[in-house]
Amino acid sequence: MHIVDTHTHLYLEDFKEDIAQVIERAKQLGVQKFYLPNIDSSSIDDLLHLEQQFPNVCIAMMGLHPCSVKENFKQELQLVEQWLGKRTFAAVGEIGLDYYWDKTFIPQQKEAFELQIEWALQYDIPIVIHSRDSMQDCIELVKQNQNGKLRGIFHCFGGSIEEAKQIMDLNFLMGIGGVVTYKKAGLAEVLAHIPLSSLVLETDAPYLTPVPFRGKRNEPSYLKYVVEKIAEAKNASVEEVAKITSSNAQNLFEKEA
Ligand SMILES: [Zn+2]
Ligand SMILES: [Zn+2]
Repeated sequence: MHIVDTHTHLYLEDFKEDIAQVIERAKQLGVQKFYLPNIDSSSIDDLLHLEQQFPNVCIAMMGLHPCSVKENFKQELQLVEQWLGKRTFAAVGEIGLDYYWDKTFIPQQKEAFELQIEWALQYDIPIVIHSRDSMQDCIELVKQNQNGKLRGIFHCFGGSIEEAKQIMDLNFLMGIGGVVTYKKAGLAEVLAHIPLSSLVLETDAPYLTPVPFRGKRNEPSYLKYVVEKIAEAKNASVEEVAKITSSNAQNLFEKEA
C-alpha cells in the first residue's frame, strides 16, 4: 500500500524522543510521504530541520496559522513571505480562519488568509486550509479568489454534504483524518456522498487521534484506522482508498508548474 499523510506536525516536541520509530512504523503501513504544515515563526526552525533529516519523505509547507494571527501578524506574514521567496515549498499552509478559539482577530485573520492565497497563486502552489466554525467564510474567500488556478485542501474536513459540494465545485479536496472514526461526528455518513477523487488522507498528528487510540498521541501509522473507516463508508477496498487518495495528493502537490 502507498499512503500519503497530507497534514502532520511531526516536528513538534511530542515526537522529539522517537521520531525515527514513528516514521518507521508509518513506513511499515505504507506511508511514504509526510507533508508538514507550518504554524508560525516559532515552528519554522523545527519544521525545516525535520525536512532536512528526512529528505523527500518529510516535505515542508510555509504559512501562518489563523490561531497565530495576533497583534504582530504583519511581522509574522513578512517572515512567511520571505521564506516563500527563498526556496520551494509544497504548499502555503496552514492558513484559514478559526472562530472557535478566539474571535478577537477575525478581520486580521481574513486579511492574512487572503494575502497568503495571493502568494500561493503567485508561486503556483496549493493552499492547505484550516477552517473551524468558519466554513462559509472560508468557502467564500476561496470562491472570490478562484481564478481557475487556485487549488488545495480543506484540511480536517468535518462539514455537511452541502459544504462538501461547495468545496468540490471550487475544485478543492477534503482532508480526512481521525474524526471519521468518531461516531458522534457523523462524518462517515457524509463521506458516502463524496467521491474518493475528492479526498486525501491526513493525521494532523499529534492531534485528532482515531479510535481505538483516541486520547493518546496521534501518529501516521494510525492512518490504518482512518483508511479502514473510509473504505467501509465508501464500500471500497482499503487498497483502493489508499491508491486513489495518494494519487490525489500526488497530483495536487507534485503538479508541474
Ligand atoms: Zn489545522
Ligand atoms: Zn494542523
